[in-house]
Amino acid sequence: MVHVRKKQTDSQMFFASVTVLYWSRHYNKGMQCDLHVHTRHSGMCTIPLLRAVCRECYNEPPAVYEKLKRLGMDLVTITDHDSIDGLEELRSRPDFFLSEEVTCQLPSGTQLHVGVYDITDRDHIELQRRRSDFEALLAWLGERDLFFSANHVFSSLTGRRAIEDFELFASAFPALETRNGHMLPRANENAAALADYAGRAEVGGSDAHAMASVGCAYTVVPRARSRHEYLEGLRLGLGKVRGEAGGFRKLTRDVLWIGWHMVRANPWTLPLATLAPAVPLVILWNYAQESVFARWWMAQYLQARAARGGDRSAERAAEVAA
Ligand SMILES: [Zn+2]
Ligand SMILES: [Zn+2]
Repeated sequence: MVHVRKKQTDSQMFFASVTVLYWSRHYNKGMQCDLHVHTRHSGMCTIPLLRAVCRECYNEPPAVYEKLKRLGMDLVTITDHDSIDGLEELRSRPDFFLSEEVTCQLPSGTQLHVGVYDITDRDHIELQRRRSDFEALLAWLGERDLFFSANHVFSSLTGRRAIEDFELFASAFPALETRNGHMLPRANENAAALADYAGRAEVGGSDAHAMASVGCAYTVVPRARSRHEYLEGLRLGLGKVRGEAGGFRKLTRDVLWIGWHMVRANPWTLPLATLAPAVPLVILWNYAQESVFARWWMAQYLQARAARGGDRSAERAAEVAA
């Protein structure tokens, strides 16, 4: 009798331990979401001549959603350029929230892509109305208490930068994108250093324009158990960026993939396929420029910061960066 009772106690202890282990792992895992993904609703590409025939992205929203879920994302969002046209196809999914990558004009006259998360249809209209007036945009984002980030700030993707832009990134934005799946590791590292200096939250996402890259970078919020907790965690700076940065092979593959879809959509553009062998050279040239851009602006920011505040660590970092 004593032996049977001992066996029962042992098995109860075993199942209790397994249950505790399961729930503690489930609880600690938190939630993950790719916070920067494009779909076919991101408009036409910005390259001169090609902008009339080639889309930024050919991915259908439901296909993007399915891939992200297969990769283990707990939540899904899409961040099309100045558009929420992908919303209708995903609105009914319980783990989906709408976001947008807003192209805005900064006071210096330069452009920036701003990720704005968990928005409504009405928010989209108001964002688009204010995106050419940064002060008005900032005031409205604050009024609506929306969470937003400055995306790929050490890239020349949106054109030139000015030193005052970096002061703005460090003071006016609650978050910086510090892991972009298509930016060079150096550009991401510099953004992470800027977020660290300025005490800003960090977000990350794939910036995928081709299906193969969807979900290659994402943001985890430990211990989040709902969309609300995930977004609150981001605001509190609890987000951990994960996944890979950009690189030559990935960008070359994605550009060729987009080109292939352009030809499929517009067969008369087939002669442009003869330009395909030049794509790797263009990507190499682009990344060489991006590398110089990221290093130069980090050095400029650190020098300005050191000059302003007599920050010894920034002075030392500026010497290293230069
Ligand atoms: Zn962007
Ligand atoms: Zn983007």
